[in-house]
This record gives sequence, structure tokens and C-alpha cells, in this order.
Amino acid sequence: MQSELSLLEQIKLEKIWDFPGGIHPSEKKDLSNQAPIANLPVSKRYYVPVKQHIGSVDDIIVSIGDSVLENQPLTSSNLTMTVPVHSPISGKVIAIAPHVSAHPSAQPELTIIIDADIEQVSAPLTPMTNWQDKDKVELTEQLKVMGLSGMGGAGFPTHIKMFPSKPIDLLILNGVECEPYITSDDTLMRYFSKEIVQGAEILQHIVSAKVCIIGIEDNKPDAIKALKAATKDIANIDVRVVPTKYPSGGEKQLIQLLTGLQVPSGGIPADLGIVMQNVGTAFAVKEAIIDGKPLTKRVVTITGETLKSPQNVWAKLGTPTQDLLDFAGHTPEKQQRIIMGGPMMGFSILDASTPVVKTTNCILAPSAKKLPPQGDEQACIRCGLCADACPAELLPQQLQWFSKAKDHDKLSEYNLFDCIECGACAYVCPSQIPLVQYYRTSKAEIREIEQEKIKSEKARVRFEQRQERLEREKQVRLAKHKASAEKRAKALEKDTSAKDKIAAALARAKAKKQASTDESNDSVSKSNTTTSSDSMPATKPANAAKDKVAEAIARAKAKKAAKEQQESAEIQADKKAQPVEAKTTSAEPVSTAEQERKAKVAAAIARAKQKREEAKAASQEKTAEPETKTNEPQAKGSEPQVKIEPKIGSEPEEETQLTAEQIRKQKVAAAIAKAKAKKAKSE
Ligand code: SF4
Ligand code: SF4
Repeated sequence: MQSELSLLEQIKLEKIWDFPGGIHPSEKKDLSNQAPIANLPVSKRYYVPVKQHIGSVDDIIVSIGDSVLENQPLTSSNLTMTVPVHSPISGKVIAIAPHVSAHPSAQPELTIIIDADIEQVSAPLTPMTNWQDKDKVELTEQLKVMGLSGMGGAGFPTHIKMFPSKPIDLLILNGVECEPYITSDDTLMRYFSKEIVQGAEILQHIVSAKVCIIGIEDNKPDAIKALKAATKDIANIDVRVVPTKYPSGGEKQLIQLLTGLQVPSGGIPADLGIVMQNVGTAFAVKEAIIDGKPLTKRVVTITGETLKSPQNVWAKLGTPTQDLLDFAGHTPEKQQRIIMGGPMMGFSILDASTPVVKTTNCILAPSAKKLPPQGDEQACIRCGLCADACPAELLPQQLQWFSKAKDHDKLSEYNLFDCIECGACAYVCPSQIPLVQYYRTSKAEIREIEQEKIKSEKARVRFEQRQERLEREKQVRLAKHKASAEKRAKALEKDTSAKDKIAAALARAKAKKQASTDESNDSVSKSNTTTSSDSMPATKPANAAKDKVAEAIARAKAKKAAKEQQESAEIQADKKAQPVEAKTTSAEPVSTAEQERKAKVAAAIARAKQKREEAKAASQEKTAEPETKTNEPQAKGSEPQVKIEPKIGSEPEEETQLTAEQIRKQKVAAAIAKAKAKKAKSE
């Protein structure tokens, strides 16, 4: 149950709480903590893996054959979740190739292999003076550039932890070092307590923590004494001693010990306003900020019953394990086991060239008698000891079953990822079941599946983005085509309009020319009229001239037709008037003057008609002559004269016949009119 008090109120109580489970294995720390930290001699060859932290790897910035200086960066640090690696010595890059990794899987990792030279020259260091005046971003960037990642756990980049999601009240320095055999932090705290406290002050400054607590197990009295001395004049930094119990150095367990608070499942310390760093990391922070030194070395415990001189050494990163064992006077047993890390959480290495990395705290070469290897696995007897030992309050027995069955859903349901792989369950298991190995394998499988899912999701997103891009490009192309089509249509419209204008201009010009030709034709026509009807013109005009003539004739015809229409209307009126006249003559008295006038008018009309018909007949004869004689295609618009003599009420196919009949009728009408006029005159 969580406390009702605030975090700072909890801390002020100066109380040490407890956590569930835990074990008390034989410590065996006195093997290696009896002497100060030694300096390991320079090795002949160093293997520097480019990835020694959790996160990504940036570019390698050296090449094979390059001479490098000590502390020179070998990789860049532009990515967020990355920290660079630096050359631990001066020498020459002889290879950049996969090499056995300092990992339980021993999977080869890309490694920069450097042969040391004799001079051992360092690159210039970049210390930050007056760090108290520097802002958080500047200090954090320096930590990143100096290659700092957690030195007591999984290797989380230190600069990332400096930007927690919530305000931080408490900074905890972890100096518990609860695992048997290991004393690297113990000796560091004993001999470099001042530097560790300087590092703690810098970290506290960066995360704005109100309080800093250094947690140490009660089996390290010298370290406790040294740190209390180093912090006695510093407000807000306190040393707290916790009882020796494994795994009290676990992050969640130490928080519970010091504050009574539990980090929720799936949560992180920052959720409670807490940031935790290892004391080794605090030392590296001091060197990075105050001395400007990148992380190229660390304290490593070389211990075990098969070593002549177990001790702690300053080992440069990349040093082969064999060189450490040789330095400590290793006398291997038959089937000697070499463990990187402690007996609880470490892993066996099979290749002695496996290098020291940022998280390597111990090389253990135990005797088989003191630390027997894991026995053959037997069936679970459901004793429940594993559950009792688990500090994370998990059910190791059930997790083992689900791991064997690869039931990932059940493993998640039973909070596999809350397991800190402390090995307490396996330590107490009477059936010698390698429980932690099952959990590690299952975690790796689940992570791989999740990675595959992420990759698939990324691929899906990329595919969809590509489809969207192709669709966008298609739409752009279509829009362009549409715009081009509209442009062409407008251009065509303009062109048509221009053509129309040109055509109109041509028509006007033609009409004008035609007018002048008409005048000429008129004169020609007059000339032709004066000559005999069967005589030919003196000269024959070209087709154009013929057209003009035909057009002139057509116009004349039209003019004449209009006239005839009018006259025909008058004749019709006369015809209608005749019966009335007759009726009037027989039945009613009519004015003699009026009758005489009408008779005169009718006679005049009749004469005019006759004259016109005669003129028309003459004109038809003249018009027909050029067509029959020239044997040329008939000009467009011209027709035989006789056919375009429209008569009111006549049908086209009867035109010729009706015209003659009409003439006859008109002559009769004229004669009648004359007779009427004569009669009227006599009356
Ligand atoms: S301690 Fe071993 S034998 Fe006992 S329940 Fe757990 S797994 Fe089974
Ligand atoms: S290894 Fe995991 S399951 Fe086993 S005791 Fe530790 S935390 Fe519990």
C-alpha cells in the first residue's frame, strides 16, 4: 500500500523500508576488496563495440588504417538515442568488423579493433569550467558527447534520463552493489568518494532534484564512512544504509527501501518524481563535465577462486577479458567457467577476447567447488520457493510454464517484463530449473515479434504514403492535362475568331471587288444588249469574270422578281376588281370619270406588264447564250433564266408554261382593259 505522505515527507522520516522476497547468498566480497584500484597495463589490442548502450548507433567516423588518439571519438552522436564510443588508447584501426559481444547471446557485434601504439597520446580534453552556471541543455549535451550511459544496469543513455517526463524531487545514487563477489562500486566509493559526490551535485543540478540520497548496503562500512565524510558539509545530499539482502540494488527495490514507494508495473521511477543513477555513472559524470574526459575506462572487479590476485582494476573499454585474467594471475581449472558479471545476473563467456564494455563490472573465474555449475534440470515440484524469493512478486513457476509453451499472451498477463532477471528464483529452485534463461528467451522472442510488428507497421505506413503520393501525382498530372486542354481550347477559340474575322474581311473585300465588277459587267451587259442576240462577246472572260457576271445577273433577277411580285399583286388586284366592275356596270350607276380613270390605270398596267415580259424574254435569251456556248461549269448560284422567274401562285415545274400562259392572260386582260376604256370613253 502506497504511503499517504509526499515523497519528501517520506524521505525526511529517514526510515528504511523493505521489499518482498529476496535472498541471502554468500557474499564473497572480501576476495577482491582488500586493495586499492590498480591500473591495468596497456593491452596490445582493443575491441571497441560501436554499441555499448541501449538505443541506436550513429555513424562510424574512422576508417581502417586510421591512426587514432586516446579519447578520440570513433562514432558520431547526432541521433537522440545514441552515445558515441571513444578510442581507449592511441593506436591504429586495424579492422572494423563483427566480433563476439559482451552479451549473454555472444552474438557478434560491429567492433572497431585498434592496435595500441607506444606513445599513448591523448586527444585534447574539453572540460566545462563553472558548470554551476551552465544550463541543463549544455551540460546534458556534454554528457552525451562524452559517451555516458548507465554503468550499473542495462546501459541506458544518461542524457535521456536527464529529461524526465515529470518534475524530479529525489535523485538516488545506487551504491548498493548487492551481487556476491563484485566490489567495483565499493572500491570506487572508498577511493573516489569526493568525485562521486561532485558527480551527484552535477546530476542534481541538471534534474533540479531537491534531495539526493546515496544508498549503500551495510556490508560496505568503508564506503559508507568515505561518502558520509564527503557529504557532511553538503546540504540535501544524504547517505542511507540499507540491510544486505539480494537484490536490494535493483532499481525498484532500492526505491522501495529508501522511500517505501513502489514503482507501478510497467512504470519508471520518474513517475514517482525519482531519478536513479549508479555511483560509477556519477563518477563518470564528474570526469565528463569537470575534466572533459570521455568514458573510456571503468573499474572492473577481477575475482574468483581460480585467480591468484583478485582485485579491482581500471580497465580501458575494449580490453579483452583474457588480459584481465592474466593480470590477476588466473590459473584455469578443468572446464573453467568465466562469467562476465556476478554469479546471479552474469553470463558465461566462451571467448576470452570478449571485451570489457561500459556495463562490465566484474570478471569472475570461480572454482567449481565454490560455485558449482547449474545442475541438470528436473521437473518442477511446485514447491513455491521461487515465488517466495521473487522481489517483484511474480509467479516464476507459472512464467516458466508459459515460457516453455511460448504462450506470449499469458506471459504478458503474468507481467513477465516486470522480472528484473535477478535470478533469486533460480537460486532457490530445488529442481535446478534455469528459470531466468527461460524468461530471457521469452523476452527476446516477444521483443522480436514486436520489432517485426513495428517493421510491418512502418512498411504499411510507407506503402500507404506511397499510394497517397502516387494518387497526388496522378491528380496533379490530370489537373495539368485539363489545364493544357483548356488552354488549347481557348487558343483554338481565339484562332477561330481570328479566322472568322479574316473570313469576314475577305468577304468584305470580295463584296467590294464584286461591286466594282458589277459596274464593269453592267457596261458589258449594255454592250451585249446593243449587239445581235446570237453574236458572241468579243472576248470571253475568265471564270472569275463569269462568276461576277452570274452574280450580277442574279442580282438583276432578284430585282426583277421583286418588281414582278409587285406587279403580279397589282394584276391580282385588278382581277379581283373586274367582277366588281362588271357588277357595278350592270346593277349600279358608277361615275363615268371614275370608270375612265380606272380603265386608264388598267391599260397602263397592262402595257407596263407587256413591256416587262418582252424585256424579260429578251434578257433570258441573252443570259442563256454564254452558258450553252462556253460549255463551262455553271457558276454557283446561277440558274437558267426561265427557271428563276417566280410567278405568284405558280409551281416551279410549271414555270415556263405558266409564264407563257400568264403572258397570254395579261394580253387578254390588257385587251379587256382597252375595251373597257374605249367603252367608258364612248359612254
Ligand atoms: S522453485 Fe522450482 S520446483 Fe519449486 S515451484 Fe519454483 S520452479 Fe517449481
Ligand atoms: S528472476 Fe524474475 S521471476 Fe525470478 S525472482 Fe527475479 S524477478 Fe522474480
